[in-house]
Amino acid sequence: MARILIEGGYIVPMDVRDHVIEDGVVAIIDDRIHYVGERSNFDASAFKADKTIPAEDRAVLPGLINTHIHLIGAYLKGVTEDTPGRAGSGLFNRALPILAECRDPDDVYWGSLAHAAEMATTGTTTLVNTWHKEVNVAPAVRDIGIRASLSEMLVEIGLGGLSADTTERPWRTDRLERAMDNAVQLHETWHGAADGRITTRVSPGGPGYTSLEGMARSRELADKLGVGMNVHIAEVPGETEFALKLYGERPMQIGVESGVLAPDTIAIHCVFMDDHDVELLAESGATMSHTSYHVAKRGYFPPMEKVYPKGINMSLGSDWCSNDLWQYMKFAILVPRTITGNVEMLSGWDALEMATMGGARGLGMADEIGSLEAGKKADIILVDISRPSFRPIRADNFCSNLVYNATGADVSDVYVDGNPIVQDRDVMTIDRAEMNREVQHRAEAIWARAEKNFQRINP
Ligand SMILES: [Zn+2]
Repeated sequence: MARILIEGGYIVPMDVRDHVIEDGVVAIIDDRIHYVGERSNFDASAFKADKTIPAEDRAVLPGLINTHIHLIGAYLKGVTEDTPGRAGSGLFNRALPILAECRDPDDVYWGSLAHAAEMATTGTTTLVNTWHKEVNVAPAVRDIGIRASLSEMLVEIGLGGLSADTTERPWRTDRLERAMDNAVQLHETWHGAADGRITTRVSPGGPGYTSLEGMARSRELADKLGVGMNVHIAEVPGETEFALKLYGERPMQIGVESGVLAPDTIAIHCVFMDDHDVELLAESGATMSHTSYHVAKRGYFPPMEKVYPKGINMSLGSDWCSNDLWQYMKFAILVPRTITGNVEMLSGWDALEMATMGGARGLGMADEIGSLEAGKKADIILVDISRPSFRPIRADNFCSNLVYNATGADVSDVYVDGNPIVQDRDVMTIDRAEMNREVQHRAEAIWARAEKNFQRINP
């Protein structure tokens, strides 16, 4: 049995609003938290730690939970953010065609490893991934040692043929059967693997990518497998027009009618919502994966001033190519403030809650992860608060100090299941130099194959 004691420092358990323990301890036995509280109340000599981690200059928090990522998006880093053309052109004219050039299973492995390493080193301990051929993603998240929920994306169109200029969809209904088979295979092979760190979900692409029937069949599959769902919904410009044209209904209505939107579902993006859509989302009980920093790059943002008051369970997701959740927390607070002038909508603690317990609830894992409490999984991060950015420190305002000043680069150590996967800011579980070499080499080949998409300019 491994007994670890994290001693000293500011503990932010995320159990009760604004709760901060000064000079606290977190005791771990194997993969579980044994004790969280003040150092003065803890008998360290009786605990007999195998290893003591001094944390006087650290904030100690539950690991962050990213409820939406495509790890394959590593190959999009920096290449889709400043795409010419209208909002959405970065996705349709560059991202999707580039990813269509990831042909080798090793492209998926190394890209996933690079992105998962970025996530781990910036404090994420649980990620929710969806894309194609997820069996190639699973070994990467296993090797990093991060906790992951994986899902095959169930789409019925050729993604590479989409355009920002039209609401037409290049239907390829044969893809659904294959993707559903892959989803079952993924579940049978990887659900519960890596000491239980890897689980699976079912992910219809959403109303922009999957037919109403395909959405309903996805729900049937999720119920049959006994897992939750993720769905892209109200995501991009043109999706609403497309749905209205084909079904006479808006995306949220389709989400409800197909049975996809439910309390076990993570609804991703939720940008293009009118008042009724927000009502539907709230009534469904689904969790929203708010991709704040990502959608801001695309030039649009969800109507958060309508969403927050509804009591929808909120989490944060990064989608593609910037995975530092500390940026997403800032954008979640600051963009709606800038738009509305209302500075009381969301606090630093609220943003941290979205990044931790909100994600845990969305995954149906609130009893296991998302806060530092005895009995929960030892998914813990340490943030280096010795730096001038955080000084001086006032305990009563500690969460605000953290959220407005920390970046992922301040995360020094990360534990998943009590295992140190990041120490002194470096990932311990893989050869980082080899990963950098491999992903660079593969990226250059992929970008060369997709060369014409770098020249394409959306009128
Ligand atoms: Zn996505």
